[in-house]
Amino acid sequence: MKAVRFLGKGISDVAPVPDPAADPEKVLLRIWASALCGSENGTYFAEAAQSPEGLDYKVPGHEMAGEVMDPGPSDHLRKGDRVVVQIMDGCGECFYCRNSADRFCENLNYEGGTHAQFIALPEKCVIKAPDDISYDTLVLLGGDTIGVAYRATQKLSLRPGQVVYVSGAGPIGLGMITMLKHYGCFVVVSEPHAYRKTFAGTTAGADLILDPNADDIKQRLRDLTDGVGPEITIECSGHPGAQMQALDYTRCQGTVLFAGENYKELKIIPSAHVIHKELTIKGAFYFTAADFYEIVKLYRSGLKVDHLVSHRVDLKDAPDAIDQFSKGLTGKVIIHPQS
Ligand SMILES: [Zn+2]
Ligand SMILES: [Zn+2]
Repeated sequence: MKAVRFLGKGISDVAPVPDPAADPEKVLLRIWASALCGSENGTYFAEAAQSPEGLDYKVPGHEMAGEVMDPGPSDHLRKGDRVVVQIMDGCGECFYCRNSADRFCENLNYEGGTHAQFIALPEKCVIKAPDDISYDTLVLLGGDTIGVAYRATQKLSLRPGQVVYVSGAGPIGLGMITMLKHYGCFVVVSEPHAYRKTFAGTTAGADLILDPNADDIKQRLRDLTDGVGPEITIECSGHPGAQMQALDYTRCQGTVLFAGENYKELKIIPSAHVIHKELTIKGAFYFTAADFYEIVKLYRSGLKVDHLVSHRVDLKDAPDAIDQFSKGLTGKVIIHPQS
């Protein structure tokens, strides 16, 4: 089959790779739509790994919609079923795995490799999807952008008209804007990239876009929120500076929800940032099959997601689109591996 390969240092190509190995323990899927996720940038820009055979590579991608080719061990999936996936593949034995919360597993394995024509996955990673929703829409409803945004909003008490501050308008931020507008909030976004600023406002529907590097951003947020700052801030950029701003700008007794990944440390001053402010700090990580089915219900009741896609590309054009995406010059990008 053909697949995108990440070769390291911001280089990718499309090349023949081995078909997924026949495995009676796995479900074989044909991939019709695979979406780019911001978390792929780390691997994209990583140093190229060397293997004994020469250049090593990774087939990236973890958001997909496709069809079942061979249900393998599954007794509820059939050939031709439309599916999405969740990629958290836990040990199956620990407390969290036994309670269907694989994403918290301490021996977690991440499945992936969806920027390809086929993939074989454990049955628990495959989620049956409705037959009447297109693959391009399903990859959004069953991907990180809407999945993480849905999970985040379920952890917050939101009300129509409430000012919510979203820091960062990459793919996760775009999902937050979409979900918050669905709930009727007034969404203020900060984003430094020119393309993403415009996309967040004109396409995704944010009410106000601010520059996170402007001197007056804290004051402008205060001016919108009774002079005290937002009750709720959702940090989606994962940028340490923006994460500190989120703690600083949010009002006393407010909530900061972190959704943007950051493995670097933050210099939080507990007394100043948390104790004296009685601030609540929350996290939202990925989504579950149950979340997906709730998202489908929201979609059927009017949640719009298709406008988040700026580029749809055939597999051969994926490297160019990945390059543009990595530079912040796209909205959501969908690859069609069969074209
Ligand atoms: Zn992701
Ligand atoms: Zn486990």
